Amino acid sequence: MANQDFPLIFERSKEGRTSYSLPDLDVTEFNLESELEEVYIRKAPPELPEVSELDIMRHYTGLSNRNYGVDTGFYPLGSCTMKYNPKINEDVARLEGFSNIHPLQDPKTVQGAMEMLYDLQTSLKEITGMYEVSLQSAAGAQGEWTALMMIRAFHEANGDYHRTKVIVPDSAHGTNPASAAVAGFDAVTVKTNEKGLVDIDDLKSVVGNDTAALMLTNPNTLGLFETEILEMAEIVHGVGGKLYYDGANLNAIMGYTRPGDMGFDAVHLNLHKTFTGPHGGGGPGSGPVGVSKELEPFLPKPVITKIDNEFIFEYDRPQSIGRIKPYYGNFGINLRAYTYIRTMGAEGLKKVSEYAVLNANYMMRKLEKEYELPYTQHCKHEFVLSGSRQKKLGVRTLDIAKRLLDFEYHPPTIYFPLNVEEGLMVEPTETESKETLDGFIDAMLTIAEEVKENPEIVQEAPHNTIVKRMDETTAARKPILRYNK
Ligand SMILES: *Cc1c(COP(=O)(O)O)cnc(C)c1O
Repeated sequence: MANQDFPLIFERSKEGRTSYSLPDLDVTEFNLESELEEVYIRKAPPELPEVSELDIMRHYTGLSNRNYGVDTGFYPLGSCTMKYNPKINEDVARLEGFSNIHPLQDPKTVQGAMEMLYDLQTSLKEITGMYEVSLQSAAGAQGEWTALMMIRAFHEANGDYHRTKVIVPDSAHGTNPASAAVAGFDAVTVKTNEKGLVDIDDLKSVVGNDTAALMLTNPNTLGLFETEILEMAEIVHGVGGKLYYDGANLNAIMGYTRPGDMGFDAVHLNLHKTFTGPHGGGGPGSGPVGVSKELEPFLPKPVITKIDNEFIFEYDRPQSIGRIKPYYGNFGINLRAYTYIRTMGAEGLKKVSEYAVLNANYMMRKLEKEYELPYTQHCKHEFVLSGSRQKKLGVRTLDIAKRLLDFEYHPPTIYFPLNVEEGLMVEPTETESKETLDGFIDAMLTIAEEVKENPEIVQEAPHNTIVKRMDETTAARKPILRYNK
């Protein structure tokens, strides 16, 4: 991220310079005047930069070098699982038989692709302990919504129209209450206790005949395992509600325990997190949903099934909530997850959880020396620090995040979850080496020293990046997307 200034492509332009040559025309020339209406014909040539091929390459490569991603450096973004994307996934995704087929082809002609999806469903059933899985939803949030629509359909099928409330702990991921609202429910908050876990007494006081479901993020957004999970299941089932497991971060428990075994009725996974789909830039993702036998009739359709050794799309599903995504989900991401699962095997997936948890705890124990740790028990895949000690010295968490850029690290998630003052949410992931973890720990401890001795250097950071502190609101709301000469 050196502060090299390079000219933009319009500034490189020199009249008459080109970076392409077209082959000789071997068809009749298109007659603009007779084929196009007058209004569509240009009066003057477009003002495009006139540059050589080398100029173009330097322009775009220069821009890409200004970018930061998981292939360029460590990315400890809590709640997002920015982990390594194995390159073998890309090789498999490019195989002819997968990349050159069309979603509207007759399933008889794409049996291999259908079998891959069927096998992926089977693996995810095994991993989650659920009865059936749908691969249609394209993101975690869409998976949440899909499952809630199924829960709603289930209650309505039983005549339970009065179940209008979905209980969501305040330590849930932010998408949970949003999905509940979009699915037409009222989201009811339940509090977190002093240990950072769901307050069971508060849960007891909010459940009732109007409870449709409890949505539990586990581990919760503090990175903590909900130890009273079985009691919670009993309480909610006791009043006829359903249990929803937000399993976006399954890399904390995979191979050790399963939502199905804990009594959950529905779960979603994020294949673009735990299962190594490339992640960021808004997609594509995949958020499969696993359900219990009771909810199975309500799955989105079509469902992939196998009849007499043939894989088919089953549409005859009278209780289905319908189709929720064109075709059958994001095929390429599902394929990458399938490749990952097959590469790792059952033992490998268990190791993933071990390393994710070990890495997070290692880092947390090193950093708690200088940064406040509000919840002190062992964490799962991530942990949340507070910048409250630094705030007393006049340095905010935002400043610390900006200073990390000077050390060439992407900052952690900041100011989330909301119940931690000046929060810093760190997820190292299982794919980083001890050397990388140590490098980040050193940078964080160095910054903590700077806060004590030379706070201005942190308050005014970043110093080494191409742009300094931006007006982030204006950058998001009024971006300048066009070069103006
Ligand atoms: C990332 C995440 C989600 C949302 O997933 P998207 O694919 O971004 O919609 C939901 N819950 C948890 C716990 C997450 O970490």
